[in-house]
Amino acid sequence: MSDDVMFGFGAMRLDLENENDPSSINFDDVTGMIDYYMDQGFNYFDTSYAYHNGASEAALKVGLVERYPRESFKIADKMPTWLLKNEADNEKYANEMLERLGTDYFDVFLIHNINEAFLTVAENCKTFDYIKKMKEEGKARKIGFSYHDRADLLEEILEKYGDGIDVVQLQLNYLDWESKLTESRKNYEICEKYGKEVIVMEPIKGGTLFNLPDDIKEKFEKEGMTLVEAALRFAASHKNVKVVLSGVGNIDQMKENCEVFKPFEPMSEEENDFVLSMANEIKELIAIDCSYCGYCLKECPVGIPIPDFFELYNSEKMYSLPSLHSIYGTTAAANAPASDCTECESCMAICTQKLNIPDLLKDVVDCFE
Ligand code: SF4
Ligand code: SF4
Repeated sequence: MSDDVMFGFGAMRLDLENENDPSSINFDDVTGMIDYYMDQGFNYFDTSYAYHNGASEAALKVGLVERYPRESFKIADKMPTWLLKNEADNEKYANEMLERLGTDYFDVFLIHNINEAFLTVAENCKTFDYIKKMKEEGKARKIGFSYHDRADLLEEILEKYGDGIDVVQLQLNYLDWESKLTESRKNYEICEKYGKEVIVMEPIKGGTLFNLPDDIKEKFEKEGMTLVEAALRFAASHKNVKVVLSGVGNIDQMKENCEVFKPFEPMSEEENDFVLSMANEIKELIAIDCSYCGYCLKECPVGIPIPDFFELYNSEKMYSLPSLHSIYGTTAAANAPASDCTECESCMAICTQKLNIPDLLKDVVDCFE
């Protein structure tokens, strides 16, 4: 069990002024959350070039970098791997990110969303060599990559590039722990084998492990845990896990998340077994295994709000509410209906959950149109 685990502020799902504009972050709300989080004794912030179309970095600059002494907090940022075209782009994006944040170094610098396809991009652009150079030059204190693929590929990457790599950011939650698609447990075990620190992303799976039916919630409460507590404590109770990120959207969520780590109590073996047994029950309820990361949105030329539609579809399968059909109608009118999908497959390479998005959109059409 890890006894020095930190709750990390994930700046990827921040409160918006306008729901249809991901860059319209409510800076006052974010600054309030930063103050509360820092007051509670935490100091790890996770952002990326891509989050909120760059506005996440800008919000951290205004709310954090310009208001707190630089050594009092840590910032992790991520290279937009999918935008890299050549070796020179590494420097171009890293410098742009430093400027957006208003700092001259990263505490942690990660290559974003390494999977089979983006590994090729990073290799062609020599990005692993570049981040090692960043570390030597003091531009980054720790380096690594965020990872979404099979465990055997992770092992190959660590064999080839592991020297000098400090951290791997992994999707780790009790629902995906034994998943054949995400290989959460196997990926974690590879990190342990190679002595890498693990930063956990998606411990609540984009809110999925929070938005569960009442009967499931009651079963957790009978064991003395809220849904959020169960998810965060499961993720944090592994030896090599040093940070558990949670993408908090408002101050209430922030308070609930902070409570779990004040102080952090690792899960007992019985609690661990209970949570994993619940994973099997919960899996039966989830029709589409989307983590709502939103990466696919940028790739869709038609502008289909893919994660919103998948969330509505999952809610419909779980609760069957008539109001979901009218929400679908409004969302489709403001963006594009699922039936506008041309099956171009542009979204599929970036999908962190390896979903067959065009096929799943057909289910959405059958359900809502
Ligand atoms: S396959 Fe459909 S949803 Fe995916 S990018 Fe193309 S049009 Fe958009
Ligand atoms: S479909 Fe894939 S890329 Fe899009 S939000 Fe869901 S998990 Fe993320």
